[in-house]
Amino acid sequence: MTGATLLFAKALDFAARKHVHQRRKGESREPYINHLAQVSRLLAEATGGRDAALIAAGLLHDAIEDTDATLAEIEAEFGSDIAALVAEVTDDKSIPWVERKRLQVKHVATKSKRAKMLKLADLTSNLHSVLESPPADWSPERKRRYLAWARAVADGCRGADATLEEGFEAAWRRCADKYGA
Ligand code: ZN
Repeated sequence: MTGATLLFAKALDFAARKHVHQRRKGESREPYINHLAQVSRLLAEATGGRDAALIAAGLLHDAIEDTDATLAEIEAEFGSDIAALVAEVTDDKSIPWVERKRLQVKHVATKSKRAKMLKLADLTSNLHSVLESPPADWSPERKRRYLAWARAVADGCRGADATLEEGFEAAWRRCADKYGA
């Protein structure tokens, strides 16, 4: 077993256990791990499998924000590089939601290239969810606001990775066609 495979298996197990009771907000209530798997896959495809830490961070990126996992725990299990990547894409939950979303737009351009890649994969996966299984309580206006916000964050990630940017654009265009943004 290579180091990369071991790392991937560990991160998958950690994420599956931490998010075990969570489901996506969409009407089909997919298990949360589906989102994490998709983000990890997009990163694996974009890097040709060459950045094992980033691919593992894709599995772990919501663990601090959405579970009882701590940064110290992720650092102890997975090392400082992966912990730093997860920290870069983790919002401060003590800040109100609307302000957090605004700060993401404001600060994303200052993040590292790999954090931007992770953010692009995250946004793309979320757009696929909005396309295939939007939250039942989202009005057309709410969907359009989400699309505008996702576009603003992705604009801050320009230049990070051509494959991920193309994936985002394709998903965004399909959403915009469907929801009239
Ligand atoms: Zn996510």
